[in-house]
Amino acid sequence: MFFNSQGKAEVTYDAIVVGSGISGGWAAKELSEKGLKTLVLERGRNVRHGEYPTAGNDPWDYEGGERVPPEEIEEHYAKQNRTGYTIQQSRKHFFVKDSEHPYSEVKRFDWMRGYHAGGRSLMWGRQSYRLSDLDFTANLRDGIAVDWPIRYADLAPWYHYAETFAGISGQAEGLAHLPDGNFLPPMELNCVEKELKKSIAANFDGRLLTIGRTAHLTEPNPAIHGTRGKCQSRNRCMRGCPFGAYFSSNAATLPAAEATGNMTLRPHSVVHSIIMDKDTGKAAGVRVIDGETGEQHEFFAKIVFLCASALGSTFILMNTQTEDMPDGLGSSSGQLGRNLMDHHFKVGAQGRYDGFEDMYYKGRRPNGFYIPRFRNLDDASKRSDYIRGFGYQGAASRENWMRGVKEMEMTVGADFKDALIQPGPWQLGMNGFGECLPYEDNRVYINHDVKDIHGLPTLTMDAEFKDNEMAMRKDMAASAAEMLEAAGFKDIEMYDEGSYPGLGIHEMGTARMGRDPKTSVLNKWNQVWDAPNVFVTDGAAMTSAGCQNPSLTYMALTARAADYAVNELKKMNL
Ligand SMILES: Cc1cc2nc3c(=O)[nH]c(=O)nc-3n(C[C@H](O)[C@H](O)[C@H](O)COP(=O)(O)OP(=O)(O)OC[C@H]3O[C@@H](n4cnc5c(N)ncnc54)[C@H](O)[C@@H]3O)c2cc1C
Ligand code: SF4
Repeated sequence: MFFNSQGKAEVTYDAIVVGSGISGGWAAKELSEKGLKTLVLERGRNVRHGEYPTAGNDPWDYEGGERVPPEEIEEHYAKQNRTGYTIQQSRKHFFVKDSEHPYSEVKRFDWMRGYHAGGRSLMWGRQSYRLSDLDFTANLRDGIAVDWPIRYADLAPWYHYAETFAGISGQAEGLAHLPDGNFLPPMELNCVEKELKKSIAANFDGRLLTIGRTAHLTEPNPAIHGTRGKCQSRNRCMRGCPFGAYFSSNAATLPAAEATGNMTLRPHSVVHSIIMDKDTGKAAGVRVIDGETGEQHEFFAKIVFLCASALGSTFILMNTQTEDMPDGLGSSSGQLGRNLMDHHFKVGAQGRYDGFEDMYYKGRRPNGFYIPRFRNLDDASKRSDYIRGFGYQGAASRENWMRGVKEMEMTVGADFKDALIQPGPWQLGMNGFGECLPYEDNRVYINHDVKDIHGLPTLTMDAEFKDNEMAMRKDMAASAAEMLEAAGFKDIEMYDEGSYPGLGIHEMGTARMGRDPKTSVLNKWNQVWDAPNVFVTDGAAMTSAGCQNPSLTYMALTARAADYAVNELKKMNL
């Protein structure tokens, strides 16, 4: 039984936004800037910009350094630790405890989450790329899944809009399949990366290496970015940046929303389901469990934006079971929860570069290089063994004193110490990120047997990479090695460490956009076909995955949908 301690008027808003991560932050900003009284419901604790408790810590501030004791990992972070790099003393507080928020796996699925204000915008890697018409027409061309209901021209102005406010640094390259953005000055490639760039340009038609496009302020503009500061290249971003130099909801969109006076952010508000109005077929509001008190509340609004992350939003839709839709709101097409995608990676090559021994680099650049997709762009680059393509992310650096640790067991003394303070040889690694196809049988479904700490049902994942991805991976390793070889690298090693869905941390597709309510969950404005005042603008909406990191696309989709929703509200259409 749900109840409110206040009267209905006090819990009625123009808009409700569920989640305050990358998508929810944008929805909050856009809706409240356009004058809507907006309630943002966030299941985790509040994290105000600047309140990043470990931002200034060093390894010696923790007993045992950054290492988290194995028993603690086993008890609380068994799944979150699967990345191998996220669960450290200085970061673990931004990742969920699997013990409190379980999920089930028919096949291995690595679901990395952060439940707090800002969501994963605090921990993300900030790589930001546009999709292109190569991506928006891919399903149509290949005759698989469904066609996107939008094209690049629909989203291009919204990419520009999102990039301007977020601040994306990058180099314009004039590629049709990786459109340039409204860039801040690019970060710099180091000498070995520049050498590889030259070699790729000379030896491989249609391939190029560019600096990563990343959501860091390399030249802040106070008129746009407010008090956010310039990036200092400390590379401690995953702890939260006190300068606000990378884009996060906490540093950018939530303060902008707050400044309007129209936003109310309610932390510890776990959205359980949507309240449906039987007569109108629209949403009336949402049901919430208070994460601290366990109390149940209802909040009402004219429109609801679900931005709880792809699987979080899909869960809320599935948990909204009505007489008409026993499998959840948006399930009439049978596609809700299906077509789960992620990028596959952890495959590529690495090598040593002899030379440039008198060169080094300055700071800890929080970015690497990017080699855009070069396969299946046209007839000349067409592969017979797989469709779609991949890009590479990588970096060159000099080995440090750690290379001596093995020797330390055998030798000590002044000579050894002197040797260790010299930088080691240059190493370069490049890691492919490949597109995964939208397979109908890759899916999530609700699990009423396993409950979370709030007593809510949980999700079960049943997804895998298939033949197309496996064939692509062979090429991802071989193509990386051939580029390193052509550039004169030594000791080149190809690797394929295996990749499970989820680990790319780009879950997508479980409430896809489409042109037909019979085969998709959302229309071209991200409205649920079955309830037009409910919008889903996070990764769930994606009809195909591209191979680019997707969050910039969620920002653009969210801003576009918010603009549409407000216009429709003004026309009394919602
Ligand atoms: C280590 C790491 C590196 C990454 N690198 C990149 C990168 O380089 N480039 C890129 O594009 N992407 C990257 N990502 C992915 C990126 O973080 C996500 O795509 C992005 O954050 C998704 O935005 P979102 O708003 O949909 O979800 P999130 O940012 O996850 O936010 C969802 C929010 O909803 C809240 N929520 C969930 N359920 C409920 C509920 N029932 N009620 C109320 N609130 C709820 C959560 O607490 C959370 O705050 C990375 C992620 C990680 C963790
Ligand atoms: S590298 Fe830049 S964005 Fe990251 S923590 Fe340092 S100053 Fe902030």
